[in-house]
Amino acid sequence: MLKLVNVKTFYGNIQALKGIDLEVSEGEIITLIGSNGAGKTTTLMSISGITPPGSGEIYFMGQPIHHMSADKIVSLGISQVPEGRHIFPQLSVMENLHMGAFLRTDKNRIAEDIEYVFGLFPILTERRHQAGGTLSGGEQQMLAISRALMARPRLLLLDEPSLGLAPKVVHLIFSIIKKINSEQKTTIFLVEQNANLALQSAHRGYVMENGKIVLEDDADRLLSNEAVKKAYLGL
Ligand code: ATP
Repeated sequence: MLKLVNVKTFYGNIQALKGIDLEVSEGEIITLIGSNGAGKTTTLMSISGITPPGSGEIYFMGQPIHHMSADKIVSLGISQVPEGRHIFPQLSVMENLHMGAFLRTDKNRIAEDIEYVFGLFPILTERRHQAGGTLSGGEQQMLAISRALMARPRLLLLDEPSLGLAPKVVHLIFSIIKKINSEQKTTIFLVEQNANLALQSAHRGYVMENGKIVLEDDADRLLSNEAVKKAYLGL
């Protein structure tokens, strides 16, 4: 479904990605783990076209997307939930959800999808007329995921969904991520610093260090890999 070939991405003179190769198959939950500054967010930004790669290729469903605009990439079926949520704080929950459906042509199915996300996160139903900025951190993360789902993505990119949230909320969010994957057949590409939780939720994982992929394997094998345990799982 998604393939990155020798992707190099720069911020001015700083090279954040030093030749990334990775693949995601339809229906998978893939996680990319690594320490601060390894290049995880930049990998997502390169895929979504927000920070396009300086060189290399990215294919989605066989189609090259590395020269496409971010809007066009969304319309092909890739939605990103950015780190820190970035919901629209002045807009209500309902308005945020409608913003997520902005590029859709099948407007008659939007109401049905709002019902679906309210089913995933019932608290958002209660909050539907409330401004996004008044929600708790966990509710904002739920809204950010819901807004991304309103674009009906085939591939959902999630950047640090656990960041700054209480453990109970994190577990709820991860259980919903797995539900979206199994019920909606949405493929998930998840960036996380909470490597333990990410690997427990994913089918496969990639480990990134200093702008490069240093390891890839099935998630359960990475969980028992001695180097991963030591560097990322605190064991
Ligand atoms: P974190 O978990 O802290 O978000 P990360 O693995 O997602 O880290 P990136 O945010 O992708 O890493 O950063 C990769 C490298 O690119 C780092 O050296 C970082 O300092 C640099 N970088 C990221 N964003 C910018 C930017 N806007 N301008 C300049 N350098 C940047």
